[in-house]
Amino acid sequence: MSYHVIDPLTGAEYRSYPDATDAEVDQALATSAQYFEEQPTTRFERAQHLLKFAQIFDDQADKFAEEAAHNMGKLFKEGQGESHAAANITRYYANNGAAFLTPKPYVYGPNDAHAQLEYAPTGIIMSVEPWNFPYTQVIRVLAPNYLAGNPVILKHASSVAGCADLIQQAAREAGMPVGAFQNLCLTHDQVARVIADPRVQGLAVTGSEPVGRQLAGLAGENLTKSTLELGGSDACLILDDAEMDNAIQEAAISRLRNSGQTCTSAKRFIVRREVADEFVAGLKQIFTAQVVGDPMDPKTTLAPLASKRGQEKLAQQVDLAVQNGATAIVAGGPVGDATGFMPTLLGDITPDNPASQEEFFGPVAQLYVVDSDDEAVQVANATPFGLAGAVFSADEERAHRVASRMATGQVFINKGSTGIPELPFGGVKNSGYGREMSDMGIMEFMNAKIVVYPK
Ligand code: NAP
Repeated sequence: MSYHVIDPLTGAEYRSYPDATDAEVDQALATSAQYFEEQPTTRFERAQHLLKFAQIFDDQADKFAEEAAHNMGKLFKEGQGESHAAANITRYYANNGAAFLTPKPYVYGPNDAHAQLEYAPTGIIMSVEPWNFPYTQVIRVLAPNYLAGNPVILKHASSVAGCADLIQQAAREAGMPVGAFQNLCLTHDQVARVIADPRVQGLAVTGSEPVGRQLAGLAGENLTKSTLELGGSDACLILDDAEMDNAIQEAAISRLRNSGQTCTSAKRFIVRREVADEFVAGLKQIFTAQVVGDPMDPKTTLAPLASKRGQEKLAQQVDLAVQNGATAIVAGGPVGDATGFMPTLLGDITPDNPASQEEFFGPVAQLYVVDSDDEAVQVANATPFGLAGAVFSADEERAHRVASRMATGQVFINKGSTGIPELPFGGVKNSGYGREMSDMGIMEFMNAKIVVYPK
C-alpha cells in the first residue's frame, strides 16, 4: 500500500514512505524482544530520557505543528498546542511513573502473613494509532510503557507518516534505545502478524469502531490483552440554569476544535427547552463566523478536514440525515477547493434517523431539545457509544447527579471534555475499553504479580 502523506490543502503528495518489508518486521520484533529481555536501562534512566523527549516537543513545537498541518491539516496553533500537550503527558510519566509502580504490601490469613504486589513489564506492545492527534495519541501509550519497560512498536495512520517519523527522531535524540520504540510502516497484514507474535503481549488501538473490533478480535484469538480507544458521539447537556455564555462558548469550542475531528468533541447538544433558543442563536453566530483556509495562516479559524474522503463521508452523512427528516438549522458543508467544511447544525433528529446512532467526524453538531433532566439523560445514553460528555448547570450538585447517570467514561461539568494527563481517559460500550493516562494508563500492560511470603 505504501504510506502516502497527502497535504489536505493542496491535494498533492507531501511525503511518501515504503511499506516495511517482512524481513524488517522480523528484525524489529527481534530487537524489541532483546531489549525486553535485557532491560538495559533503569527506571531512573528511562525517566531522564522521557524528560529529554518532552523538552524536544516543547522546544520544537513549531516543527511538529508544521508537519501536522501538512499531513492532516491541523491549524498551526493547534499543532503547537498538541506538541506541548505531548510534552506534558511525557513529563507526567517521567515524574510519577516510578511511584505508580511502587510495590504494594498485602496481608493474608489469620496471622496477617505478608505478601507483596509487584508490577512487572509483560512484553512488546503493538500500538495502532489514528491521524487526528498524531502526537498525543502515540505518547499516551509510549510514555507510560517506556517508563515501565515495555517496548513499543508503532503502526501509525499512513496519512501522518511524517509525524510518526518526527516522533521516532525525537525518541532517538532523547536517548531511547532502538528496541524500546520503533515506528514501522506496517501493512494491515503485517499488523495482524505482529499481534499474533507470542512476544507481543499487548495491543493498544485508538481508531474507529470497525477497526477496533477487527484488531481486538485478532488479539483475542492470540490471548493478547488489548485496550481500545474508539469513536464517540458525545453528549453535551445544557440545563435550564446553565450560565449561557460559558455553555455556548465551551460547546462551540468542543465541537469545532481540530475541525471537529476529535473523539471527545461534543457532537450532540441536548438542551432544555427553556434555553434552547438562546443556545441556538449563540451557536449560530459562532458557527457562521468561522474562516476556513490554510492551516498555516493565522487568519484561519477552522482548518480543512484531514482528507477528501473524510469530507465526502461527512457530507453524505449530513445528506442522509436530512433525507431522514433532519433540519439544517445551520447549513454549512463543503467549501473551497480543498477539504474545507463550514460548521453545520442539524435539528429534528428522530430516534430512527441513522444520524442519531453515528459518529460525525467533522464540524457537524446535532441539536435535541428536551423537557426534563430525565429526558436529557435518556437521549444522552441512546447511542451505541460511551466515550465522554459534559453537563452545564449553575448548580454543580444537580450537574453531578445528571453526570452520574451518563453511560460514559468521563463527564465534565461546565467545561468541554478534553484529555488531562492526571485523569483516566477511556470509554465504555462501543467506544472501547481500558484507560489511558493517570496511574491507570501505566497499569494496563503490567503484570500485577503477587509474591507471597510464608508468614
Ligand atoms: P481508523 O481508520 O480506524 O484507523 C486507525 C488506525 O488503524 C490507523 O493507524 C490505520 O492505519 C489502522 N488500521 C485501519 N485498518 C486496519 C487494519 N485492517 N489492520 C491494521 N490496522 C488498521 O481511524 P482513523 O480514521 O485514523 O481515526 C478516527 C477514529 O478514531 C474516529 O472514530 C475517532 O473517534 C477515533 N479516535 C478515538 C480516540 C479515543 O481516545 N477514544 C482518539 C482519537 C480518535 P491506515 O492509515 O494504514 O489505514
